[in-house]
Amino acid sequence: MYCSDLFRYNRRMTTPVRIGKTPLGGSNPIRIQSMTNTSTMDTQGCVAQCKRIIDAGADYVRLTAQGVREAENLANIRTALRADGYDAPLVADIHFNPKAADVAALSVEKVRVNPGNYVDPVKTFMHFDYTDAEYAQELEKIRNRFVPFLNICKEHCTAIRIGVNHGSLSDRILSRYGDTPDGMVESCLEFLRICISEQFTDVVISIKASNVLVMIQTVRLLVDRMNTEDMHFPLHLGVTEAGDGEDGRVKSAVGIGSLLMDGIGDTIRVSLSEDPELEIPVARQLVELLEARSKAVSIDVQPFKDFDPYSFHRRETDAAGRFGGGQVPLVIADCSHTDFDFSKAALKPDFVFVGENVTTRMDGLPQLCDVKVFHGQRETLPVFDTAERKLLETVSAPVKFLRISLDEFSSPFLQHLQTIPNLVLLLQSEQTNTVAELRAAFHFLLHEGCRMPVLLSLRSKARDREEEQLAAGLDLGSILVDGFGDGVFWSTDPANVFQSKLSDQVSVMFGVLQSSRLRMSRTEYISCPSCGRTLFDLQKVITQIKERTSHLKGLKIGIMGCIVNGPGEMADADYGYVGAGRGQVSLYKGKNCVEKAIPAEKALDKLIDLIRANGDWKEPEQL
Ligand code: SF4
Repeated sequence: MYCSDLFRYNRRMTTPVRIGKTPLGGSNPIRIQSMTNTSTMDTQGCVAQCKRIIDAGADYVRLTAQGVREAENLANIRTALRADGYDAPLVADIHFNPKAADVAALSVEKVRVNPGNYVDPVKTFMHFDYTDAEYAQELEKIRNRFVPFLNICKEHCTAIRIGVNHGSLSDRILSRYGDTPDGMVESCLEFLRICISEQFTDVVISIKASNVLVMIQTVRLLVDRMNTEDMHFPLHLGVTEAGDGEDGRVKSAVGIGSLLMDGIGDTIRVSLSEDPELEIPVARQLVELLEARSKAVSIDVQPFKDFDPYSFHRRETDAAGRFGGGQVPLVIADCSHTDFDFSKAALKPDFVFVGENVTTRMDGLPQLCDVKVFHGQRETLPVFDTAERKLLETVSAPVKFLRISLDEFSSPFLQHLQTIPNLVLLLQSEQTNTVAELRAAFHFLLHEGCRMPVLLSLRSKARDREEEQLAAGLDLGSILVDGFGDGVFWSTDPANVFQSKLSDQVSVMFGVLQSSRLRMSRTEYISCPSCGRTLFDLQKVITQIKERTSHLKGLKIGIMGCIVNGPGEMADADYGYVGAGRGQVSLYKGKNCVEKAIPAEKALDKLIDLIRANGDWKEPEQL
């Protein structure tokens, strides 16, 4: 298994790696990092931005080195930083240019190479029939180029990261494994095996994707394969192109957070399409949330033997009204303490919980209420506590809800509950490690063959909105990505000092479902975090594109700063807007470039035209 205990936090033991004065892995703290987006030839600009990132609390700073000139200039940037007392290790980011990697290894503490393009050229999608001999020949070519680089790293005590990205796999890997988790894992292992044969061990690895499910399953699979091959390299975690604002935070918390909860991850980067220093407090808070959850005791439940953590399957349930049975997961808002009229809200929950305050709602939303005030009112369904379990059989309602937590589970009780038609469980957790408790409860239900739908019912104790976004992503998302849960009921603990707005709670629940790929409620922007290769003002362009397209629910739009890396990394998007040169943009439909190097000032209108021509456009007023 990829994880030693599914129901207890145990950090995966990895071999420490020397990275300047800040080692990584082993028992070292989980390190935080970010990446500059200034041109690497702009020494002063890079130095200033590195300082801002380090002052914000980063342990490492990465800079792109697209060519030998940029790689050479890293030495100047490093010298200037050291002169001003900044000694955080620097990392060079290399694509398509092994010579630049050789040069960078002379002056920075770590070099990241991408196995998909270290030696292999830009994907051509032309050669898909590699024979075993051709495949072996390609590997030999990689080895011949990679080993001299490793020798430079050995000589200069430079660590490396083997960083695989979904969407930048080589033709060779695609030919044999396709665009799959297996392909990404093998792409990484091919390079790792060379490192091992050369006794080079200062290696960190990463496998990233913008699709959170793909990213989680692939990293789990990689850890499983490494365990099999007795490899213990530390892992760098990140969700690529997570976007900005709430979307970026929630998506990162689901992807990175769920793996951290599995005990995986020695360094993280939260890739936001915002100023790089803003990534640091988000990453730090995510690690703090993990630490708060890591102290919980073990739970005595056996993992369900047929549970497959390497591919996504939703737990099968019988439908109870609109809940379960393969229907989209529903969102429930807590209006029991503060009511809210959702009539004009951009995002409406599917149900509201009103406690004892049943009224005729202006927004017409169906209600859940405490059973003590339930008298068969229209559009109203009763909620029971386990103390009221006897009423479950006597009260008549189309769907009934039972609040329950793992410590109330027993085999006879669950078997009895199975006999009650249209029952939905509101699964709660007051444990410190919510994820472990909820996950164990689902494994218990699987053991018992229980098919009633389950809603994840959690109360936030967050201190501010950002923490709430991260906690919801971590606690709800970690369960949803395992295929568990038919809906979410996220509310603020009434005793909490910070009380979030109901509309914000609803927004965060829809965000978690969207990030977990379970329910699309808004346009998804797969936007890169930008780096020294970025060819336009990314944040400005994202804002402009959002202003025109944010009503296109369910559509995925990639916004990538450069042509070198962008098209591969937004492989999941329906449409793409990619920097093609200074003042030039290329537009993509899926993976195909359909408008090459058009003037930037016309690009947004052209993107709308492209969406319209393909039948995906709707006027905002039509919605
Ligand atoms: S896609 Fe964005 S982050 Fe990635 S290399 Fe290009 S500009 Fe940099």
